[in-house]
Amino acid sequence: MTQTFERDRTSTAQTFESVEPATGKVVGTFTVDDADRVRDVVEQAQVASAWWSSLGFDGRKERLRAWKGVIAKRATELAELVHRENGKPVADALLEITLAVDHIEWAASHARRVLGRRRVPSGMTAANQSAFVEYAPFGVVGVIGPWNYPVFTPMGSIAYALAAGNAVVFKPSEHTPAVGQWLVRTFAEAVPGPEVLSLVTGFGETGAALCRSGVGKVAFTGSSATGRRVMAACAENLVPVLMECGGKDAMVVADDADVESAADAAVWGGMSNAGQTCIGIERVYVAEPVYDRFVDAVRRKLDGVRPGATDDAAYGPITMPSQVDVIEEHLRDAFDRGAHAVVGGPDAVHRPFVEPVVLVDVPDDAKAVTQETFGPTLTVHKVRDAEEGVAKANATSYGLAGAVFSRSKERAMQLAETMRSGMTSINSVIAFASVPSLPFGGVGESGFGRIHGPDGLKEFTRAKAITRQRFALPIPLLSFDRPASLTPKLAKALAVLHGRSAPRSPR
Ligand code: NAD
Repeated sequence: MTQTFERDRTSTAQTFESVEPATGKVVGTFTVDDADRVRDVVEQAQVASAWWSSLGFDGRKERLRAWKGVIAKRATELAELVHRENGKPVADALLEITLAVDHIEWAASHARRVLGRRRVPSGMTAANQSAFVEYAPFGVVGVIGPWNYPVFTPMGSIAYALAAGNAVVFKPSEHTPAVGQWLVRTFAEAVPGPEVLSLVTGFGETGAALCRSGVGKVAFTGSSATGRRVMAACAENLVPVLMECGGKDAMVVADDADVESAADAAVWGGMSNAGQTCIGIERVYVAEPVYDRFVDAVRRKLDGVRPGATDDAAYGPITMPSQVDVIEEHLRDAFDRGAHAVVGGPDAVHRPFVEPVVLVDVPDDAKAVTQETFGPTLTVHKVRDAEEGVAKANATSYGLAGAVFSRSKERAMQLAETMRSGMTSINSVIAFASVPSLPFGGVGESGFGRIHGPDGLKEFTRAKAITRQRFALPIPLLSFDRPASLTPKLAKALAVLHGRSAPRSPR
């Protein structure tokens, strides 16, 4: 029997229940934190941030590593909780946790190199100055997270914001508050002292309250529609925001591609986590000469790939009941417009599960091509060549990630560069997310700002410039005592130093 469980069905003004999407069993009861409560938590975090910042890079590194150790040791316990609350198989949850742990280590061990004070050249005009730049924390960062990768995704903000010296107030998705609570509790166990990582729980209003609570920055991950609301709330107080929003990622398969591995990657990129992956593949553009072989391979590779709640299932249920409506609508719209299914069909939806669906002959303006479906579906399109594939891949308002398959290194690199996305993997999918030193983020409606890597550390800081005068100039430049005779000399020096690069004026 399949059934849909509305997650907020037992909500009162003060609490809500988180339930297993596959069974409807209650995972936990959480408070709906109101604006006053959120403000209190942020005030307390402000106090904690002074202590945390005073520990310096080494003190924070030691403590972040302690937390990393606890997560790694108890990874199975966390994976089981993710499985219960989000629905994904334990093995997938473990993979997500492994990547998250890598990021804690990277952020902790690279923060000093990326953010620490360094001397920079002061230039000719300011030759008497020593110049320094350093990256100072905001104080408290509010992190608003989604439910699809409830450990990996928020960790991209939490670990980097903490390593940079901020305290963090985390609002996990209302669909995965228990996972958020687990992370916050284990941090407190590993890092005794003031509460540097704290939790607020609730729905959109709690997130909006966090935006207005006096935090120094908000790191938001979620849909583009919610992102707009988050920005509007943050705009009231000019609070800077990091936007990690939705995607409609494409794979482009060139005529010289390894078709088998491209098909394997498309199947994994499209169906794993029930397609609920922001950087998952939703569209595939295949060069005409290899199109039929590709579709055949996809069909074969999906044979036996089924959703379910047990360990042997390839992927779990759709976590959020309302998303099933979106998937159904996209399928219906595609079929109404003449699409054909080469895998699955209109009857693929058995709430809360959705069987894999691969569509061909889908018009470019169908919802399944233009909007984020967030389900285990792929649209496969025949194109003249990979260049046309990239052009079609780029014809969307989103621009999060994507993949390119070609055996030619040069061509693949060129295709990857022309893809309008924040991240592209060549001959694999999603690989960039497992490289901690690479920035992660999108363009267009997929958002802006970056988590991960040096950019991800800098994202949670403001650059601070400092100069120290080494000696006074014989002729004061920045003083009312500047002699009038200096002005023509300055103009001459300027022309000599920089004027030579001007184009010759026509006679
Ligand atoms: P969502 O936008 O519904 O919710 C995200 C978070 O925002 C939740 O914690 C929610 O409670 C909170 N929220 C809702 N309304 C708010 C408001 N008015 N003010 C402040 N906070 C508010 O997204 P979701 O369904 O949880 O996640 C799925 C979406 O996230 C997909 O679009 C997916 O592509 C995207 N996503 C993006 C990335 C990325 O890195 N770019 C990663 C994971 C997921």
